[in-house]
Amino acid sequence: MTTYWCERAWVGPAELVEGLVVEVTGTHIASTDRSHTAPVGSRRLVGLTIPGFANCHSHAFHRALRGRTQAASGGSFWTWREAMYDVADRMDPDNYYALALATYEEMALTGVTAVGEFHYLHHGPGGVPYDEPNVMGRALIAAARSAGIRVALLDACYLSSGFGSPPEGTQRRFADVSADDWADRVTDLSGGLGESTVVVGRAIHSVRAVPRPDLATVAAALPNAPLHVHLSEQVAENEDCLEHYGCTPTRLLGDAGVLGPRTTAVHATHLESDDITALGRAQCFADLCPTTERDLADGVGPARLLAEAGAGLTLGTDSHAVIDMFDEMRAVELDARLVSQRRGHWSADDLLTAATTTGHRSLGFHDGGRIAAGAWADLVTLDTSSPRTAGTGAGPESVVFAATPADITSIVASGRLLRPEPDAVGSRLRVAVEAIWSSR
Ligand SMILES: [Zn+2]
Repeated sequence: MTTYWCERAWVGPAELVEGLVVEVTGTHIASTDRSHTAPVGSRRLVGLTIPGFANCHSHAFHRALRGRTQAASGGSFWTWREAMYDVADRMDPDNYYALALATYEEMALTGVTAVGEFHYLHHGPGGVPYDEPNVMGRALIAAARSAGIRVALLDACYLSSGFGSPPEGTQRRFADVSADDWADRVTDLSGGLGESTVVVGRAIHSVRAVPRPDLATVAAALPNAPLHVHLSEQVAENEDCLEHYGCTPTRLLGDAGVLGPRTTAVHATHLESDDITALGRAQCFADLCPTTERDLADGVGPARLLAEAGAGLTLGTDSHAVIDMFDEMRAVELDARLVSQRRGHWSADDLLTAATTTGHRSLGFHDGGRIAAGAWADLVTLDTSSPRTAGTGAGPESVVFAATPADITSIVASGRLLRPEPDAVGSRLRVAVEAIWSSR
């Protein structure tokens, strides 16, 4: 048992507690108790303590692209995708592990204690399966374990370069032979892991990559696991879907039985009003990744309308153009202000709930993202007197609209005090990224 004393803690919307004793047994919080003084022998967490962030959408290997796709010549999502394929082609189980470890350590430094890794780089060069078909997924799981954060490995079915056409080039590394082969491989991965800090979930890469007849196969595999899908990130996807199937991607997924309370629609940027209604009615999650969506010029999704329809908002750093959940949170409100020329779409409590409690539910860590008895013991403490946070009130508004990862002074994840050394993490990132770019 470890006893922490939080000088101040955010334990939920409109619940800011002055002085909270948190007893931790193993990976979970055993009890909480209010006290204005720190018990003898407790670890003092001075400042404001919040639950850990759930980063619900990550492609760890995209970290190698940071700062390298920002040329003044511009380009589009589709030209960026070519650069991403170039990195994908250089990856093997060893450099995948090294890059993912350093990336997850960077995440831990920013207060992320659980990540949803949307994993589609499965096979070797040319699409030849490795002797151990899940070696790449297992590398990601091992990396998260080493970094000290939990992972929901969302293994993505990918069968087509677009609406039934066979995978081409690098895409062959993503593709299984059939949806049944994908299901067998993922079922094998999920069996025997036996780690509470790991969830194996499902993903549909997109309606481009999984043809209509195969969607139901994905929905039927591991039926109690989370199911994530890239949805309508680009207008072109909607147009192609309309041309091939005569409906929107959301409608296609709904008709195939993909939408439900375990489903997360990632991006959900370009939606019709019927799509919004369908996602809300099915109690899906909508995972926005504003820093990536702005980087790729995707657009601004209808987050408020989705929430009003019944969808749960979650957040992710996706391509890791930056890893900063504070930025993701405030971007949801600030982008909505730019679009609407109005303020006040989301409260700081709403956005902090999205980044913590709701995010964990979407990853299958149902007892995460709260500071309460029975919850995962994730405690992220912020300095409330830094140059950024001093004088801001030390409440949720301070966290969402003023703080940055540099204000984090202590990280407890799954009951473990993490001590990632920023200089060492930076060094590991540099070595891992440079090794990938010099591999040919
Ligand atoms: Zn993605």
